Amino acid sequence: MRAMVLNQAKTVLTTRPLAPSKRPLELRDMPKPKPGRGQLLVRVNTCAVCRTDLHVVDGELPDPKLPLILGHQIVGRVEEIGEISEGPQRPDSHGTKAAPGFAIGDRVGIPWLGWTDGNCPYCRSGRENLCNNARFTGYTIDGGYAEFTVADARYCFHLPERYDDVEVAPLLCAGLIGYRSYRKTGDARRLGIYGFGNAAHLIAQIAVYEGRELFAFTRSGDDATQQAAKELGAVWAGGSDEMPPDKLDAAIIFASAGPLVPAALRALAKGGIVVCGGIHMTDIPSFPYVDLWEERVITSVANLTRRDGEEFFDLAPRVPVKTKTEAFALEQANTAVDRFRSGELKATAVLTITS
Ligand SMILES: [Zn+2]
Ligand SMILES: [Zn+2]
Repeated sequence: MRAMVLNQAKTVLTTRPLAPSKRPLELRDMPKPKPGRGQLLVRVNTCAVCRTDLHVVDGELPDPKLPLILGHQIVGRVEEIGEISEGPQRPDSHGTKAAPGFAIGDRVGIPWLGWTDGNCPYCRSGRENLCNNARFTGYTIDGGYAEFTVADARYCFHLPERYDDVEVAPLLCAGLIGYRSYRKTGDARRLGIYGFGNAAHLIAQIAVYEGRELFAFTRSGDDATQQAAKELGAVWAGGSDEMPPDKLDAAIIFASAGPLVPAALRALAKGGIVVCGGIHMTDIPSFPYVDLWEERVITSVANLTRRDGEEFFDLAPRVPVKTKTEAFALEQANTAVDRFRSGELKATAVLTITS
């Protein structure tokens, strides 16, 4: 099968596009994987590109599997089913049904969380996103920048029918992990979002649908994004160096710039929460204690649980959450990654795999 393979993560950052010979992903002919016990062999139709893929390529996340097939927002069809696990399937502690039924030919979504041990203190307390031994698609196990992949059926999702394979792909990470960040804001009425990219675009639609007052923070002077946020229903949009007209009950930061944390904290009302929604962030500068005083909270979101997925894929088609996508052929994965990094993309890059 054809696959775009990362042989080595870069440790030196560059913002300029690399010469073709130095591009990180190499088109290779790989053996088609075989599904093990409880796994699905999936013919990949689309795979959306996530900022986390950039962090892996750039060497900002430790110890990726190498060589690695990136990609954790995978949509495909079940081609083959591995032997079913022996013994009765135990429901998880939070009630998610184990081994959801997939038949050959079914459409399937494969997310970032690829496997957990089901057994550590986190798994046993409904926090499988923090599992001590978790494996992650397109990071510690091979992902979807390829014609085929295998995935543990218990961590795969059935996808809402209203979306086609390109439209639905960005929901699998930007949507899901954005949703987990959003749920951490509780019933906050005034919600700020810092970094108005793919995840923000999806979550803003849910926030407005649920009657929140949305405040959008972009790079200062980014009038186009501020305008787009207002069109989505934001009551205010401005630069991340500005203070909103009202104090916020919660803020979600989707950008990876650490200085946004104290900036968002300063915009909070008493008891407010800042949720860092990204897997990687630059260092956070120090700030006066008075900005945290009065029970303000800073937290982060790591990974997702299957319950997040079930809730989100139930809610998304009702809003309905709309995605913006730009399609690239599998072989153009380097171009998609480069354009994402340089900020040239106005939509989520989705690789479309044709065989
Ligand atoms: Zn665990
Ligand atoms: Zn992701």
